[in-house]
Amino acid sequence: MADAADLQLQVPAGAEWGPAFDAAGATGAWIATIPAAEREKSDAYFEGGYWIEAWGALITVAIAWILLETRLSARLRDFAERRARKPFRQTLLYAAGFMLAIGILGLPWTLYTDFFREHQYGMSNQTLGAFLGERAISLALGIALGAIAIAGLYAIIRRVRERWVPWATAATAVFLLFMIMVFPVFIAPLFNDYRSLPAGELRDSILALAHDNGIPADDVYWYDASKQTRRISANVSGIAHTTRIALNDNLLNGTSEPEIRAVMAHEMGHYVLNHSLWIPLSTALMLGIGYWVVNRSFGAIRARRGGRWGVRDIADPAGLPLALAIFAVVMLLLTPVSNGIVRIAENQADAFGLDAAREPQGFASVAMRLSSYRKIEPGRVEECVFYDHPSGRTRVMRAMRWLAEHPPQSR
Ligand SMILES: [Zn+2]
Repeated sequence: MADAADLQLQVPAGAEWGPAFDAAGATGAWIATIPAAEREKSDAYFEGGYWIEAWGALITVAIAWILLETRLSARLRDFAERRARKPFRQTLLYAAGFMLAIGILGLPWTLYTDFFREHQYGMSNQTLGAFLGERAISLALGIALGAIAIAGLYAIIRRVRERWVPWATAATAVFLLFMIMVFPVFIAPLFNDYRSLPAGELRDSILALAHDNGIPADDVYWYDASKQTRRISANVSGIAHTTRIALNDNLLNGTSEPEIRAVMAHEMGHYVLNHSLWIPLSTALMLGIGYWVVNRSFGAIRARRGGRWGVRDIADPAGLPLALAIFAVVMLLLTPVSNGIVRIAENQADAFGLDAAREPQGFASVAMRLSSYRKIEPGRVEECVFYDHPSGRTRVMRAMRWLAEHPPQSR
């Protein structure tokens, strides 16, 4: 583990503070530090992501169609009905088989998006064996948690029939909050090792930042993300006594202290502003819109093709592929909304982080590093529709304006 203090922050000439400092000019100077070839590569990577979203929805629809047309879904339901007596257990069994089928049929696509494409753009040096091993763990977790969630939703549908949408939305909110609570403690350690950051200047600096912002933490963790990705990342998770500050080794070993402080302050912003409460709640509301459309359109499609597919009604789990296909299309159409929700939170955390860490140049430098996989200067509409984080330009501009408003000698 290298000592982060070894790395010095490199501020480009045109962005340095001085009597003639100009935020727009400084923003340009930061952006100019990215060579044209790198910029072209990250633009291509990010723009390709727009198509991946659309293709992903289309592939979900195709897989659903296969499961329905081959009557695999109906046969799986029949099998579950023979094997279990209680409807909840039948659905649980069906849902586990369904999740397994989706995981297997979707594997080639996941291999392309999450493995081969990441390697093609130099984002990862993970071996295929390690990647598949992690996929197997994710699939097992997905089957266990997904089957319980699906069986829960169908239990609601059996109970209140067509009035299931608000109940399911509320249950989804509870489930998402539960996942956010258990993820750092039970799930993240399955994929990475978390260790305490050794005592030293950096640890003291991060803890001081936390205490200044009322975060009850007395340890800082780092984890070995470099085995999966080259991206930098950090988070502050948990509540009260389970509060946990963590940063990944790419951030720890590859960046300077002002950059680390800028990132940690941003993450602390998410924590202090309760984003781990607001984001799951607004996400649940959005998923609720998806449920509503499923509820409205399921009957009409089932009436036309349901006999052929062996799907009885909305409470029949054999109709799950149809519900999922409708849901996937609605979620694709709502992408600008879901991105907007997260982007608002990210902008708030950026503003909070600048005030807390007071490291505008560190923040600008990190924004440039993040631009290795996020198009740096999108159009205005493009940023609104496709970005779940502010673009590199937006972030550097914010940092340079902050610097203009908080000149170093007056701080
Ligand atoms: Zn963030």
